[in-house]
Amino acid sequence: MNELYVELAIPGTADKLYTYSVPAELMPAARRGARVIASFGKRTVIGFIVETSAESQTAAERGRSIPHIKPIQDVLDVEPILSEQLLNLTSWIAEYYLAPLGEVLKAVLVQGAVRPGKRIVSLEAPSLQAAMQQVAHAPRQAEILRELSQRGPATIQQLKKHLGARAIYSPLNELARRGFVRILEEQPKPQLKSKTEAVIEVTPESRQIFEQHLALLEASSRRSPGQAAILRALTSTINLPSAIAVTDLLKQSGSALSALRALARKRILTITSREVIRKTEFDLYPSSLGTIEITLNDYQRNAFECIRQSLEENKFQTFLLHGVTGSGKTQVYIESMHEALARKRSAILLVPEISLTPQIVRRFKYHFGENVIVLHSRMSIGERYDAWRAAWERESSIVIGPRSAIFAPLRNVGLIVVDEEQEPSYKQADQAPRYHARDVAIVRAAAAHAVVILGSATPSLETYTNAVNNKYSLLELPERIDTAKLPEVKIVDMLAERQRKLEEFREAERQRKKEADGQPHTKKPPERDILSDTLRRKISDRLEKNEGIILLQNRRGFASYVECPDCGWVEMCENCNISLTYHATKKHLRCHYCGLVRSPAETCPQCRSAEIRYHGVGTQRVEEELARSFPKARLLRMDLDTTTRRGSHDAILKKFSEGEADILLGTQMIAKGLDFSRVTLVGVISADTQMLLPDFRASERTFQLLTQVAGRAGRSALRGEVIIQTGQPDNPTLRYIAAHDYIGFYRDEIEHRKELCYPPFSRIILIEFRGKQDEEVMHHASEFMENLTERRQSIQVLGPASAALSKLKGVYRWHIILKSLKTDDPGGHILHKVCHEAVHLYRNSRAGKSRSVKMIIDVDPASMM
Ligand code: ADP
Ligand code: ZN
Ligand code: ZN
Repeated sequence: MNELYVELAIPGTADKLYTYSVPAELMPAARRGARVIASFGKRTVIGFIVETSAESQTAAERGRSIPHIKPIQDVLDVEPILSEQLLNLTSWIAEYYLAPLGEVLKAVLVQGAVRPGKRIVSLEAPSLQAAMQQVAHAPRQAEILRELSQRGPATIQQLKKHLGARAIYSPLNELARRGFVRILEEQPKPQLKSKTEAVIEVTPESRQIFEQHLALLEASSRRSPGQAAILRALTSTINLPSAIAVTDLLKQSGSALSALRALARKRILTITSREVIRKTEFDLYPSSLGTIEITLNDYQRNAFECIRQSLEENKFQTFLLHGVTGSGKTQVYIESMHEALARKRSAILLVPEISLTPQIVRRFKYHFGENVIVLHSRMSIGERYDAWRAAWERESSIVIGPRSAIFAPLRNVGLIVVDEEQEPSYKQADQAPRYHARDVAIVRAAAAHAVVILGSATPSLETYTNAVNNKYSLLELPERIDTAKLPEVKIVDMLAERQRKLEEFREAERQRKKEADGQPHTKKPPERDILSDTLRRKISDRLEKNEGIILLQNRRGFASYVECPDCGWVEMCENCNISLTYHATKKHLRCHYCGLVRSPAETCPQCRSAEIRYHGVGTQRVEEELARSFPKARLLRMDLDTTTRRGSHDAILKKFSEGEADILLGTQMIAKGLDFSRVTLVGVISADTQMLLPDFRASERTFQLLTQVAGRAGRSALRGEVIIQTGQPDNPTLRYIAAHDYIGFYRDEIEHRKELCYPPFSRIILIEFRGKQDEEVMHHASEFMENLTERRQSIQVLGPASAALSKLKGVYRWHIILKSLKTDDPGGHILHKVCHEAVHLYRNSRAGKSRSVKMIIDVDPASMM
């Protein structure tokens, strides 16, 4: 028999492939995309077969090194767990994002949460004897059958223990394939009691039973009003979800639990339990679904027609669906997905963060029922495994999930929708591979001849530019479905407010001085106020009318800029046009792009005021102020601190939407998610905290965030109002927000990007060094710089500079920015090559030395902080 070698990618090891040989008995299973068990040093690891090669060529290439090649121990998968398409996608990601292939593979499979050891094996063969005869040639298989017949079902772990750790998966897979054994996933451990809840399942059949019994009850003389009310509740709604929580049902029917129990005893209905998370996430507000048949309007029809055509032609094409919230984008996704399913193709819907978008999942479940598979990280391991499996096995389905759902193991992807494509959460920032799911979506679709729809009210500059350049085709939905008016946006000049208050103060002082007859005054001038008089007035007004109020304060605790409270002047870097960051410990300013360091001005160069100070007010401070000013108002705060518990987002949102609070105050989290028809006022406490973040995308993010939060106002008959407080009332970004003018903003902002060579005119790779010793980290960054000398002329190198968030959780961060202009380096190949080489050199020079400093590579970074 020929020999076989495999190249393995092994997560958690160096960024290269390892060669192993394949024992004869494992050869049939050792295919590209399958997982194997192998020994690696002293460890036993799981690796992925990336390449297989026959003896002849490998031997020739490797020559004398052959004797060192170790055999793999086992093959885990009957069928390769990764399709060719996903394997190619992972290679592309590894290459483009400069990430180790093993890590990419792990990221791709994390959805599956594959637990090879936890499966239970049982005998399936009707006649053990016949089975034994057929495996006579395979002693290992026979051994397993014998073991199972003697001891009964066993986990794979137990089999390993009893039969030795030698190849077990592969013979098992073979036995399973022949139908002699059955391998089942062990049931995940039951959830803790507190996390499940009692529900009543509702199916068309059970519904009939409810109706019949209700009729009986109503006709009979023995009256059971409680039971009747329950059955009425269960049959009255047209669109009942497939299950309703017992607590909701009792609330709705006004009946007691005993009545429900009585019905259960009579077997009219069944009470089962279900994990709470699903309910809170996807079954909130069943009434909001509506049942109307929807006919697309002309804009939607036109958009859909273009998409349909591409689907029909099996043509790879990316569409940008640009339309404000409520313009009917989701309806276009739905129609397009029907179209894809009708062609026996699958679809993926990416959403920014699933826990913030329960309504969209509900809506898709309503339209596509069991075809919808939800994949997300808050699911239990068992649920995730089931979902992954379902996506893998079904002919066509719809997968909904956050960025990692782009790796869903669907066979025949025809359509990928990226909703709110501008959201930074599509970029994985916290660990390798640092991929952007929108861009991966486009690469995956290209290979699958699929259609991509990028949906947004405020597209990213990159995406809109691609649309302008006809790389994507632009579909516009310019009007809201309900023709509701966009909210009126008012900009409040906080400087003028302060001037006015100072004037009042001075006047009062003059008065007092006159009366006190020249005594020196001790009172200090008033602090800058958090709430303007305008906003205060509006809040009081809404509180009186019992209408909802949303207040945004998107303060990230750490980044501080220096500002003149009298004229709004801000310390900026002249080279990079971003705000300088104030470092309180060293009392100096830094530009974290180019590394400029200087001390802050003592008096304002613009107005000579000496009041200059660094700025920042967090949500807690705002909360205090609100409590002081509006002691009777019921206030909910939503930020990272108040939403650490699972389900707490939903709890807060639900409370607010049900009118149990007057004011919802929070960070950007409140800008997304549910629609609140009761909200008529949105206040932005300070637009500046966002606008002046030291990041070249600060204006873009401000435009997106404030447009989004403004959209929370007036989703009902009542017209909404938005108040934006700022120290920069003339800032063009705010003007465009107030005018609801995306195109105007785009034209303006793209000019700035061009001027300073930021994306989309250039590509950026951010290289970060992290460690506990500032000096040492800086040293590493400088060392890395030395590797960049060659070909420096074609790319721009900035830094090393201390990051804007120079110290996070006790770790110092230094940045190097590599930039290449698209005019010089259209495909980014030079940039990638230069970076690749430098990384390689750096790693080699560090090999075997201390690992106290970590290097992180972020290609196309979403945040530069
Ligand atoms: P978006 O995704 O742009 O926010 P949606 O698709 O959610 O917009 O549409 C907003 C609302 O209008 C939804 O309640 C939806 O059911 C409804 N809707 C969408 N298209 C139509 C239509 N053509 N006719 C009537 N109602 C529609
Ligand atoms: Zn000033
Ligand atoms: Zn600079």
